Amino acid sequence: MALEALIKFLHIVLICLNKLQFKDFPNSLYMAKKYLNIFQPKMQLAVCNNCHKMHNIKDIIAYKKEEKVAIKDCLHEEFPNNPIPSRRNQCNNLLTILKKSKRETIAMPCMLFSKPSIRQQLSMLY
Ligand SMILES: [Zn+2]
Repeated sequence: MALEALIKFLHIVLICLNKLQFKDFPNSLYMAKKYLNIFQPKMQLAVCNNCHKMHNIKDIIAYKKEEKVAIKDCLHEEFPNNPIPSRRNQCNNLLTILKKSKRETIAMPCMLFSKPSIRQQLSMLY
């Protein structure tokens, strides 16, 4: 909170001194962290809309059937040790949607989860 107030105060003072020179000075803590690239998450994961299991995004985007980009289904099983395969309750929810452009078709994850590193999580606490 104090840092946020200090950045806003400095922004106002610097803009009053010279508006052209300091027009890019951040006006909030969020913008300052964005300029310093502090918020960039290290890892993004694809999340299933149904069972909320997280998947590696590289595997999902690169998934192909018969040499073509295809939609990947969630293979999470609620009861993987059940001897009867039909009672394992496999999710089978769609993880990606296909977007077609003029040249190629790409797979986009339906839902993303940005996982910051431990260092970033600790820095956000203070
Ligand atoms: Zn699922």
